[in-house]
Amino acid sequence: MGCASSIHISDRVVYHSGKESEDSHSPQQTNATQHQGNPASGLPLKPHSCKTTLTEVQFGPMKLFKDPLQVLLVFAKEDSQSNGFCWACEKANYRCSLAHTPESALECFSEKHHDLVIVDHRHSRHFDAEALCRSIRAVNSSENTVIVAVVKRPDREEASVMPLINAGFNRRYVENANMMACYNELLQLEHGEVRAQFKLRACNAIFTALEQSQDAIEITSEDQVIQYVNPAYEAIMGYQQGELLGKEIIEVPKSEKNKPDLLETINTCIRKGKEWQGIYYAKKKNGDNIQQNVKITPVIGQGGKIRHYVSINRPLNDNNKSEKSSERVQAESQTDIQSRSSQRRHSSMARIHSMTIEAPITKVINIINAAQESSPMPVAEALDRVLEILRTTELYSPQLGTKDEDPHTNDLVGGLMTDGLRRLSGNEYILSTKQPHHLPSHLATPLSLNDIPPRIAQTMETEGSWDFDIFNLEAATMKRPLTYLGLKIFSKFGVCEFLNCPEATLRSWLQVIEANYHSSNSYHNSTHAADVLHATAYFLCKERVKQSLDPIDEVAALIAATVHDVDHPGRTNSFLCNAGSELAILYNDTAVLESHHAALAFQLTTRDDKCNIFKYIERNEYRTLRQAVIDMVLATEMTKHFEHVNKFVNSINKPLAALEENGGNNDEESVKSILTSPENRILVKRMLIKCADISNPCRPLELCIEWAGRISEEYFAQTDEEKRQGLPVVMPVFDRHTCSIPKSQISFIDYFITDMFDAWDAFADLPNLMQHLDNNFKYWKGLDERKLHSLRPPPE
Ligand code: 5GP
Ligand code: MN
Repeated sequence: MGCASSIHISDRVVYHSGKESEDSHSPQQTNATQHQGNPASGLPLKPHSCKTTLTEVQFGPMKLFKDPLQVLLVFAKEDSQSNGFCWACEKANYRCSLAHTPESALECFSEKHHDLVIVDHRHSRHFDAEALCRSIRAVNSSENTVIVAVVKRPDREEASVMPLINAGFNRRYVENANMMACYNELLQLEHGEVRAQFKLRACNAIFTALEQSQDAIEITSEDQVIQYVNPAYEAIMGYQQGELLGKEIIEVPKSEKNKPDLLETINTCIRKGKEWQGIYYAKKKNGDNIQQNVKITPVIGQGGKIRHYVSINRPLNDNNKSEKSSERVQAESQTDIQSRSSQRRHSSMARIHSMTIEAPITKVINIINAAQESSPMPVAEALDRVLEILRTTELYSPQLGTKDEDPHTNDLVGGLMTDGLRRLSGNEYILSTKQPHHLPSHLATPLSLNDIPPRIAQTMETEGSWDFDIFNLEAATMKRPLTYLGLKIFSKFGVCEFLNCPEATLRSWLQVIEANYHSSNSYHNSTHAADVLHATAYFLCKERVKQSLDPIDEVAALIAATVHDVDHPGRTNSFLCNAGSELAILYNDTAVLESHHAALAFQLTTRDDKCNIFKYIERNEYRTLRQAVIDMVLATEMTKHFEHVNKFVNSINKPLAALEENGGNNDEESVKSILTSPENRILVKRMLIKCADISNPCRPLELCIEWAGRISEEYFAQTDEEKRQGLPVVMPVFDRHTCSIPKSQISFIDYFITDMFDAWDAFADLPNLMQHLDNNFKYWKGLDERKLHSLRPPPE
């Protein structure tokens, strides 16, 4: 950290003897600046040509450079003593001026502000040396000048130097005209008194820098008594000028927002003489907490002991940034109106800033930024990469496959994981719009669950088993499996009781919904909906799922499964977007199908009282149910696949696994709280419907093969149409003449199924599904190894 701006301190500019400039000293300028150049500009100054080099003065941790000494000799008459000093100055490369009268001495001094003045004190008849010394001391900012009195060698008794000190002299030189003695005296003065004065002058410059700094700076003594705070510190912390001085740090209120042992950590660190840097919550005078990046540096002084602590504090968010201190600075140069308007702008900026701070991602980024400051290099660099991902990446979706990846995976990913916004084409193709199906009259006759024909009832007897054969039911019901299976499953879960609706309404509803599936689709027809409903019901019976969900969640899941693909046109979202279909236009190329399934489901349901299963529940219950159904249907959109799976794993599987690791299953309360939090129940429901939706690779082999044939046929039909219509071919591998179905299934399982079902199995315990999946995967592998493209091996 450190100070925001680099600070340049310029001491006296090298004096160019040939040219005197008539500089006007501004009053607040210390004698750190003089005639030449422009030291206040902060620009590094190039010394004028001069014979001498600058002297380097070590000053604490830093080096300061100082130009040659300026010496003023005041001797009424030149004699061997004055000559001795003149010669010594020359030898030491000092600049030397000689004055004969107090008047000319004063005039010369006010102009050049010499570092050293040597006054002849031996002959009171020429001039009053002590009076002259007082006059020099009266000149503004002469306190850093060293004044020496040359006195007579005492013949009898040593006199006290007190009168000299009172007059303002720093030292006394007993007359000695020996040139070497003069030279030695000058050297000692330079390295002693003059250098000390130089350092004091530099301190002025440094404190001026501190006063102007935007960082809040605090200096305490070794006992942590506040010795100095700069205006930025007072402004940020809300104190009056000088209010904190002399206070012990423990008297200043502390924020409780820091970790309990933070203060101790800091103290241990700095007491050892080490610097501490990190995030610290400080309390303002008004009690508000302020998060600051703090750097505390112990200052080692005399005897190698810690003599001070310097703390530089920078508020983490700009909205706290020394509004007052900048106000103070402005007040000097601007009118009240101007500063008030800039204040207003400042506070509205602060509001914008605090809005963005509210977003969790902003908080996360801030926390990482702060942690980086006190982290070792490798950690900080790793965090840099983390930040880049957080700032720029879709968090839950893996980067799409690279070119060298398998084309089946590429096409699947392209076909299912992208939507119209990423795959726009200029082609216009409007799907023929059709009116929703109304109930055919022969199906409208309400019949009860008890009236189900025996053959159909019989095929549904094994409905409780995962291995239930949906295709038998499809055949037995003349492609109306959804109504019959729906009646059975909804009654098993007491849906009518929950909704308080007559069974006839449910039946009509199931019929309307089923009628709006396209029996002409080879895959996305009502048999797929019935299959997903079956899987959903199966999952709802799993212990973990039952623990997690409420009755209303179960009802929502069953309804969502039933409607989740209603009116599916047998084409993918990408196709609809490329074709510029009405649906794609209606839903802005975003989750087109899923939006349509959900919207149409509610239209069909509420349009006619006869099939309105929501008619008998309370408004609030309806809203909750509706929201849950919409959320689940939208969750079947494949562009969000990894988002849903990863959220489920991170929020549910991992915390549950951590609990199990930490001592078995005895922490029932914690398990319960993970399972039943509203956020996690949403994630469970999404995962449930997603797994039900693409569970066909986990069905018994024969069923799995049938589904694979159906989805492939639907994709082939899409490719055929794309070619016919001159549309972009979304998934070129699904070309009926070239496609390897085993390869496409292997890719689908590898890319979408394995991880998802691993996670779902870990949660719901589904060993039979995993066994089927394994089996089926080996089956497809077997075909692929034999380079077969078909669903089944040819007969021997
Ligand atoms: P749905 O449209 O059924 O709600 O979402 C499931 C998605 O996964 C569909 O786009 C469907 O095409 C795809 N899918 C389901 N089962 C399979 C399969 O066995 N193989 C392939 N390649 N895709 C499948
Ligand atoms: Mn589906």
